[in-house]
Amino acid sequence: MAKLSIKDLDLKDKTVFIRVDFNVPLGNGGKEITSDKRIRASLPTIQYAIEHCAAVVLGSHLGRPNGKPNPEMSLAPVAARLTELLGKPVTMAPDSVGPELAALKPKPGEVLLLENLRFHPEEEANDPEFSKQLASLADIYVNDAFGTAHRAHASTVGMVSYFPLAASGLLMTRELEWLGKVTSNPERPCVALLGGAKVSDKMEVIQNLIGTVDKLLIGGAMAYTFIRAQGQETGKSLVEAEKVNLARQLLSTAAGKIVLPVDHVVVREIKPGAPSEVVTNIGPDQIGVDIGPKTIEEYARIIRGSKTVIWNGPMGIFEMPPFDIGTVALAKAVAESGAVSVVGGGDSEKAIKVAGVSDAITHISTGGGASLEFLGGTELPGVAALTDKSAAVV
Ligand code: AMP
Repeated sequence: MAKLSIKDLDLKDKTVFIRVDFNVPLGNGGKEITSDKRIRASLPTIQYAIEHCAAVVLGSHLGRPNGKPNPEMSLAPVAARLTELLGKPVTMAPDSVGPELAALKPKPGEVLLLENLRFHPEEEANDPEFSKQLASLADIYVNDAFGTAHRAHASTVGMVSYFPLAASGLLMTRELEWLGKVTSNPERPCVALLGGAKVSDKMEVIQNLIGTVDKLLIGGAMAYTFIRAQGQETGKSLVEAEKVNLARQLLSTAAGKIVLPVDHVVVREIKPGAPSEVVTNIGPDQIGVDIGPKTIEEYARIIRGSKTVIWNGPMGIFEMPPFDIGTVALAKAVAESGAVSVVGGGDSEKAIKVAGVSDAITHISTGGGASLEFLGGTELPGVAALTDKSAAVV
């Protein structure tokens, strides 16, 4: 269901609350931002609101302060960085609610950044009174924080009910459009490439996507649970014993769709520089750490022949080269395929950077957990709370 967008609203002289995801990594005791990627991701929405003469109130969480103020998780460094990026001053509020805010109310074209919402336990508790106080700061609600949309918190769900309309920001709109397109109406052939450590994190994704995709390629440690389900030896590789039965069921119901590695890079001990070899059958003392060359070739062939690729999770312990070879090779194959490609999860994104192919990817999701839940077919509470485009009278 398409959601109302900030572009559908008349913002002139209104105060707009934009829930952003400024949960940036900080170093030096909370004083330095080590990556401003998340701030840049919401710049278009903030700039759009400013250009359309709105007064802007920004709300975000940062880290896990456990409901208490913590100077090491203050958003103050973000206000400074945002000031540089926007080229105009951003006022830093001392708190996200309370009497001091009345004097700081922004005028059209001005930006106020609230202090970390999670300094109050009421944010994560989705508390109605806290929600009401947040809502009292603005006339219009916009959510651009896709990365937090899978959480029902005061700023993502609770406060929304105090506004007649709730719209998605430009980043949120883009996330929903691409994730929606590849999961509901993909160009075919459509391939999903799933990897990473745990099957349990991605079982719902597999179950949900299996009906949509033409092929589901499995790599990473996840593959060993499926290989065990086929009755093959997995040695000391990571296997989730309690998921073997479910894996077996999936293999029998989705015969032909699920593709598993045919060879493996194995070691006897996981450590940098560990001697490795390529095997087709894993021995009792061996640990699988990457997909092997034949698997790379086969997966790359399928990917190159596809029109849509959905990718989440690395094919091996890619943080420890050379066990990144499979992941990087497939990142290149995705780029070369020319397919519509949607990538979720920080690890796959890193692999795409290492492979130097970021520009060839259609959409890299900003929400790891949120994109996984979306791919798993769960309606995200922060998205469900937004007004449906068809229901809106603007
Ligand atoms: P996830 O968060 O589930 O996407 O998992 C990402 C993690 O999976 C990365 O840290 C990888 O090192 C890890 N991983 C991928 N393949 C393997 C493997 N064969 N054995 C152990 N860990 C793996």
